[in-house]
Amino acid sequence: MSDWQQLEKRYFFATGKRQPVTLVRGQGVRVWDDQGREYLDFVAGIASVSLGHCHPAVVSALAEQAGVLAHVSNLVYSIPQLRLAQLLVENSCLDRVFFCNSGAEAIEGAIKLARKWGKEKREGAYEVICTDNAFHGRTLATVTASGTDKYKLPFAPLPPGFVHVPYNDVEAIRRATGAETCAVLLEPIQGEGGVNVPSDDYLRQVRAWCDEAGILLILDEIQTGIGRTGSLFAYQQYGAEPDIMALAKGLAGGLPIGALLAKEHCAVFVPGDHGSTFGGNPLCTHVGYSVLKYVIDNDIPGQVAKKGQHLERRLRSLADRHPIVTDVRGRGLLWAIELAGELAEQAVVLCLAEGLIVNNVKPTALRLMPPLVVSEEELDRAVGIIDRVLAKLEEEERERDA
Ligand SMILES: *Cc1c(COP(=O)(O)O)cnc(C)c1O
Repeated sequence: MSDWQQLEKRYFFATGKRQPVTLVRGQGVRVWDDQGREYLDFVAGIASVSLGHCHPAVVSALAEQAGVLAHVSNLVYSIPQLRLAQLLVENSCLDRVFFCNSGAEAIEGAIKLARKWGKEKREGAYEVICTDNAFHGRTLATVTASGTDKYKLPFAPLPPGFVHVPYNDVEAIRRATGAETCAVLLEPIQGEGGVNVPSDDYLRQVRAWCDEAGILLILDEIQTGIGRTGSLFAYQQYGAEPDIMALAKGLAGGLPIGALLAKEHCAVFVPGDHGSTFGGNPLCTHVGYSVLKYVIDNDIPGQVAKKGQHLERRLRSLADRHPIVTDVRGRGLLWAIELAGELAEQAVVLCLAEGLIVNNVKPTALRLMPPLVVSEEELDRAVGIIDRVLAKLEEEERERDA
């Protein structure tokens, strides 16, 4: 264990498991550890470093704003948050924006907004329909909305007002809807749950049901937004507009930011209802503006769609050649490789040794989410490494069986 890893063991809460690597520098899709070893980064700060490490647009925006004004408060006006809000509204179906600092906070705000709307417009309805295997964050309310018992049972009693139904099952949403229901909360593609892609008409059908029942559709685009799936927001590909949307991760290229957006008809917050000390600070919103402007002006979503098709072909060919791969699924630059057995953790370690950083989104699945600026050559190199790792795993299985 290195000195840094000793320090972590001594001083940190042990809330998660880390790989034994200490990263000290990054450039584009590449990162380097404290020993000078180079890696391809296909985790990208959990789909957050959207333009790659130290992208000039991010570095210059950060330096520029740091030397002008980093933080004030929302007791006064500041300009970068207004420019980012305008850019978000002009490029989405939503009308109003609230800025916070993380994804969980954006979902927390979405739940508060939906409950207030229910109180005022639907006779006190407060219940939110969520899906199994969903991930919406780690605060008490968002972890309750998430679909993984392991994350929430240690913290019971949990806040009431959340019901869960299977993902990709519109009938289940219909059955779960009652007089108390104010909203349905969904990820267009479940990220942390294992990159679960629903059928093409799922979102459209849920939208139609929400209209019929008179309830809100909240989309959690924290992982799928800002070009990740090949359109600026994933809902655009599914032809179903949300009433409320949460963004975070890739929005400021790796700086902490979250955004809650809503259509006018449900933007029911009034002064005093919600707030944040750091939310909308000039530093993060100026970087957010620069990232989003770059993404839009350079048609990054269109490039992601093309690169995604390239990656998909490579991954399908892996699946054809390796019996250990039982499924590959995803869209744009968000993919999972499903393995026959709980081999993902071992695969992550083997990939790391070959210079590729990926994560085991499930015990049985690897996830790939490189920066959106990744090149086809870098995609090929990563797939080449995974190819060798899969061969190694298969060989070990054969030796064990022999
Ligand atoms: C990461 C994530 C969150 C939580 O975001 P944090 O910034 O970690 O609070 C919520 N929903 C989805 C879909 C996510 O991927």
